[in-house]
Amino acid sequence: MPDIIQLLPDNVANQIAAGEVIQRPASVVKELVENAIDAGADQIHLIIKDAGKTLIQVVDSGSGMSETDARLSLERHATSKIRKADDLFTLHTMGFRGEALASIAAISHLEIKTRRQEDETGTTIRVEGSEVKEQVPDAIPVGTTISIKNLFYNVPARRNFLKSDNVEYRHILEEFNRVVLVYPDLKFSFTHNNTLVYKLENDSLKKRIVDVFGHNMNKKLVPISISTSLADIHGFIGKPEFARKKRGEQYFFVNNRFIKHPYFHHAVAESFKELLPEGYFPSYYIYLKVDPSRLDVNIHPTKTEVNFQDRTAIYSVLRSLVKQGIGQFNLAPSLDFDMDQSLNLGGAPKDPADIKPPTITIDPEYNPFKNTAGTQQKMETFRQKNNRENWSELYKIEPRGGHHEPAQTIPANINFDDVPEQHADQTRIAADFDQVMSSQETLLQFSGQYIVSNVKSGLMLVDQNAAHERILYEKLLLRLKKRQQCSQQQLFPHHVTFSAEDVAIINELHEDLKYAGFNMEPINNHTFIISGLPADLNENEDVSGFLDNMLESYKLNQQEMKDDRTINLAYSMAKNLAIKPGKKLEKEEMRNVIDNLFACEVPDKSPSGKSTVVIIHPEEIKQKFK
Ligand code: ADP
Ligand code: MG
Repeated sequence: MPDIIQLLPDNVANQIAAGEVIQRPASVVKELVENAIDAGADQIHLIIKDAGKTLIQVVDSGSGMSETDARLSLERHATSKIRKADDLFTLHTMGFRGEALASIAAISHLEIKTRRQEDETGTTIRVEGSEVKEQVPDAIPVGTTISIKNLFYNVPARRNFLKSDNVEYRHILEEFNRVVLVYPDLKFSFTHNNTLVYKLENDSLKKRIVDVFGHNMNKKLVPISISTSLADIHGFIGKPEFARKKRGEQYFFVNNRFIKHPYFHHAVAESFKELLPEGYFPSYYIYLKVDPSRLDVNIHPTKTEVNFQDRTAIYSVLRSLVKQGIGQFNLAPSLDFDMDQSLNLGGAPKDPADIKPPTITIDPEYNPFKNTAGTQQKMETFRQKNNRENWSELYKIEPRGGHHEPAQTIPANINFDDVPEQHADQTRIAADFDQVMSSQETLLQFSGQYIVSNVKSGLMLVDQNAAHERILYEKLLLRLKKRQQCSQQQLFPHHVTFSAEDVAIINELHEDLKYAGFNMEPINNHTFIISGLPADLNENEDVSGFLDNMLESYKLNQQEMKDDRTINLAYSMAKNLAIKPGKKLEKEEMRNVIDNLFACEVPDKSPSGKSTVVIIHPEEIKQKFK
């Protein structure tokens, strides 16, 4: 039998390596930008087309390469950054495996244009799938330009695996952010499809954070800094009152590299614990400098996990540093989460210690769309689980005076033209309410959160927040489906600045946002002028904060329900527009909630699956008096 082992040809080996290093366009961006930084560039321009699927180009003002180096840079394990394995432990540069360019070249059309200061002419090399097609001397400025076209052209499986342009674009933005947040002393620009997304001048770290995240970050950041024998730590934490339901703006860097570190995250989160309602996240941008020999270097270039030998000690330092940062600025007393203080109904308690601040409980993991195929019709409804007789019995209003007429009207101000059949029982329940309400006004608000009413089967409690979410959700969904425009014109338009990531979502949602009631036009890359708002938005609402939270909900859901933009938008808006627990309601408002709730297609559950209505039966009440 002949021998069967063969050495893989280089291009095959490179393609395999590429599978590990290059998962998506964002990985290419990371590698190329890191190389530019390692080459000492003080200006780096990133130019991409179609979220990197058509073109990724990085232009740098760095050292450039000699003709030979340019050629060698494309070989596997070709690097100017390490000479021996030990170097890995003292390494301060970004890339270190000498694999990136070889990998990228194996799966794309790659062009290098490079010139060193001391050379009169530079070099242009063109490669297609590891094969050098051309190498010529060329007149080019000092520095390096690397252009990648047709990424994954010869790996269709990878190409097909890529997500939509919007998703890939956001991955690129995230990689870009992770680099520019480390190098405020370098100038960067980022152009996508001929539109300038970022132009970042060199300035302080604080200015860089503000430039990247916008949103008047300036007043939200508190500096922290400490120097110990184990680590130097500096950076910024976001003031607790600006905390959002955002997980995105938590950045740890060690020795100038972005890392994920759940353990250190815990240290920071613990320091904020008492100050943030559940489900809220502090933002932070924390930079650690640690002796590289005290790190377990993870030589896998795409991984962001790093092990610290002194992790426990650093944890404590971090924790007290953040606590001190919070305390030093005396931030705690200024907390205000826009909660309506009228929550404490029924007079002030005698002992001030009895006053409990309102809390919001949010389950950030909850995904209302799980197990549903994404359309409203497919949602499992209460009525599908319980027979109609029960439903109707449950909510029948107890008529006073012993007599009540079966009513014929549906007090719904929602147009149900294209909603599936209206259930007869529901019609009656709603109608019953209509009748009883007008004659008796038996509505009460309890504990600032529930609307209490007397119904035939007992005492009915409606959760005002869950119910209103349901009402808004169905209303918005209908409007979005019907493409009906309905917006409240603003006397004084708002100027709102967004992060590049949010701008991408707004552009993606532009049509839908219009039908949801937003009239917003960009005036530059990051700022929109908003001249119309949804009528359901409270007049005094902080528009920028509202949009911020809404987009954040949208992003959180998006990971699960990739396709159904409309449902996600309606859901995210409803969640953030709905009457909050703790908001005092007038009689008329309570009545509206009840009327509109029972005109809903699925009145018994909020879109996130919480019960909207609970009935306490007379029997249960009787038991209490025993
Ligand atoms: P690594 O960065 O791990 O060394 P790469 O494949 O990314 O491996 O790059 C190989 C080599 O090519 C680098 O070590 C560097 O010498 C050279 N190189 C890559 N990009 C640039 C650039 N933009 N400017 C100058 N030299 C570069
Ligand atoms: Mg590299």
